[in-house]
Order: sequence, then C-alpha cells, then structure tokens
Amino acid sequence: MPPNSGNSNNKKRNGETETGKINGELCIPSLIKRKRDGKQLTREEVEYFVKEVVAGQVQDVQLGAMLMAMYIRGLDYDETSYLTRSMTHSGEVLKWPAEWRGKIVDKHSTGGVGDKVSLILAPALAACGMKVPMVSGRGLCHTGGTLDKLESIPGFTVSQSHANMIKILEDVGCCIVGQTSNLVPADKIMYATRDVTSTTENIGLITSSIISKKVAESLDALVLDVKIGKGAFLKNEKDARELANRMVAAGNGSGVQTIALLTDMNSPIGMNIGNALEVAETIECLHGNGPNDLTDLVTRLGGHLLYKVNAAGSMDAAVDMVAKTLNDGSALAKFQAMMVAQGVQEELADKLCLKGADVFEYLPKAKHTYEIKCSKSGHIHSIDSMNCAIVTWKFGAGRKKAGEAINFGVGIQLKKHVGDAVNKDEVAMVVHHDEDGIFPAEFAGLLKDAFVIGKSTITHGTRVLDVIT
Ligand code: URA
Repeated sequence: MPPNSGNSNNKKRNGETETGKINGELCIPSLIKRKRDGKQLTREEVEYFVKEVVAGQVQDVQLGAMLMAMYIRGLDYDETSYLTRSMTHSGEVLKWPAEWRGKIVDKHSTGGVGDKVSLILAPALAACGMKVPMVSGRGLCHTGGTLDKLESIPGFTVSQSHANMIKILEDVGCCIVGQTSNLVPADKIMYATRDVTSTTENIGLITSSIISKKVAESLDALVLDVKIGKGAFLKNEKDARELANRMVAAGNGSGVQTIALLTDMNSPIGMNIGNALEVAETIECLHGNGPNDLTDLVTRLGGHLLYKVNAAGSMDAAVDMVAKTLNDGSALAKFQAMMVAQGVQEELADKLCLKGADVFEYLPKAKHTYEIKCSKSGHIHSIDSMNCAIVTWKFGAGRKKAGEAINFGVGIQLKKHVGDAVNKDEVAMVVHHDEDGIFPAEFAGLLKDAFVIGKSTITHGTRVLDVIT
C-alpha cells in the first residue's frame, strides 16, 4: 500500500476556497490538480469525474493522472463513499422481484489460492432458501478466478443477461455470472487503466471497485472474505483490516448489510489448486466430503449471511443450516441445477454429481503428473500457498495478460496438509501439468520448499481470524 492510503493529507484546510471549478464549471484538469495537491474531493466533484469518465470525456492520460493522484494521496472515507456511490450508479442497478426482499445475498473474496468457496457457498445458500445473484470475476495474477473454474466444466456459460439471471434465480436460487457491460461501466474503464498504471493497490480504489459492483446487485446482505498472508493480495493484517473496515463502511453506507471475515491465506485452501481440480473438490465438498478447513470456511461465511438476514436464530444455528445442506445433498442438487441452467448438458451434470464418479472422465485433465515428496519425517507446519500458486500459474492455470487462454487441467493436488504427520519420502503433493520432457527443476525446488516440516504436532484450526461488522 502507498504511504498515504488513509486520510491524513485530505482534510479540508480552514478558509480553503479553491474548488475544481473554472468560471463556475467543474473541469477535469482542476480536479486532478486538487487531488494531486492533497485536497479532499467533494461529492459533486467525484460524481462529475465518474460521469465524464463513463461518457468518454476524460482522456486516457487524464484518467491515469487522476488515478495516480488518488493512489498517492489516498481517498478518505467520504471520498470512498462518494466514489462507490457514483460508480454504482454509472450503469444498470439490478432489480429483483419484490417477494425476494430480505433474501438476496452474496459473497466476495479478495482472492486466494485454492479458493473454490463461491462454487460451494452459492448453491448451499440457495438450498437454505436464499437468492444468490453472484457476479464474479476472472483470475488476477496468481489467484484463480471463480468464472475460470466454472468454465472448465464443458458448456458452463458465465455470460447471462439480467432476464436469464432472474429466471435462474427463480428456478434454482443461485447463479454465478460475469459482469455484464451495463453493470458498473465506470469500474470497467477505471480498472483497465489501474491495471496498466500501477494504481491497483489502493484501499479507497479497491473498496469502491468491489463494493460498487456488489451494491449494483441490489443485495440485502454481503459477506466479504478478506484474506491475509503469503497467498493473499494483502500480506499483512494492518492493511487487510483497513480494507475490511473501509469495505464494511462503504457497503453498510450504501444500504447493504455488510460483514467481513479476516481469514488466513498462508496455506492453500483445501487440497486442490487449479481450475478443473477445484471443481472436482467442490463436488466432493457438496457430497459432504470436503476437507475441514474448506467446509469450515464455507459454513462460517454462509452462517454470517443467514444470521444477518434473520434466517436463523443464532450464529451456531446459521452455521449448522449451511452444514446440513452439504451433508444432505441439497446443496449438490442446487449446484447440479445451476450447471444445467447455465448451459451444461443435463446428462453431463448428472454424471458429474453422481456419488463416486471419476469426474476427470468429463473434466479437462493434464497429460502428466509429478510427485513432490517430503524431505523429512515430522509434522507439516505450513505450506507456502504463494509457491504453489506461482507454479500452477506458470503451468497455465492463470493468465499473464488479460484475454489469454488458460489451461483448465493443470494444477496441484495436496496429499498432505498442515497438521498432518508425515514420513520422509512420502508423497506430499501431485502436480498435474502438460510439460513434455523433464519436470523443471526450479518448480520442483519451489514446491519442495513450500513445505515446512517440524518436530512438534500442530493443529490446523479455523482460517477465520476476526469478524468485522
Ligand atoms: N477486485 C476488484 O473487483 N477490484 C479491485 O480493485 C481489486 C480486486
């Protein structure tokens, strides 16, 4: 984060008379100058700026300059809230049937390694009677994207009109779709420029980008999974806490009940990393056989939402409600119905969800496997999720630039996780890859180094570090 991502430089000074107006009219160069000089932008100025961006009246160089000024000077809570609101209303705000009020919920994650939570949580919440219009994203750098994972299922179509979303939510209760061109167009334009001007990592800009898209979904409640640690976009707790506080304030301030969970992202989530591999693990979890850390995260995130919309009398009851849908097959049935509603052939969806099926008969699979073995005996203390993500990404599971094709079959299957007792030379992970020839030594080294094995026993508890409301 830049040094001034807070509000220290943005206080209005006494007697300040300067505005972004020339001859009584707002103008973009004056707004850039004000932000460059550390002034706080007013609601009117932010609204004008966003309106002009969407109207194509701001030159690329001006947008880049303004984003850099915002990045360096920071946006305070008020400016973040003005920007969130203006961006939300820069396009279509989704409307839902009145009888769904009180049940429209969603989740957003800041991005993790092996993070397939959305694929499980959306159908689980639908099985609890919620409506989940999940508008999701593609992979960013080393973190995989929910849409990419779903597209590894032959036929799954993430591009859906608002009318189709209503139909799917009516029939199934959940859908997972990409951002339509009408939803928050300001973010599309600004995000593309942030990406190429090194202005992504700013708390105010991230908050307004994420929350505007969620508020445009017209939600009743939103849960945010803000990840901290080696495999997260935010490495330290202070930044993650600041982002969580900012997003909760912006969400609540926009009329969406918002909660954030700070969660540990040092080791990979669950056992599988990579697109089709994560779909396979999703189906296992929906059969009630998910690894503990993944199931715990899904049930807690879902529990907070159900409790927030009064669908359960206590947090414990809310968590149990979600867990029940994973154990009784009702969440799996919703996942199956969602696949069919989003373009997967009925027969394929049936086969994928059949208990005991080898889903890799139907999902993309890499050509080769390579085993990484434990360097010594002991207990696994940690697994560096960043090392795992880098190798998976380099093998093609993620994109190096926007629009690039990705390899759905490659990835990593952990055979051991944190807390497990291991013997020297036992298989710790299997890498699925398409490299012909010798497995690259630098990747083998990175993956071997990912495992920290110690003498003492250690328990792999919940990933949830704190809850911010
Ligand atoms: N995801 C978003 O949608 N926006 C950001 O700024 C960062 C992550």
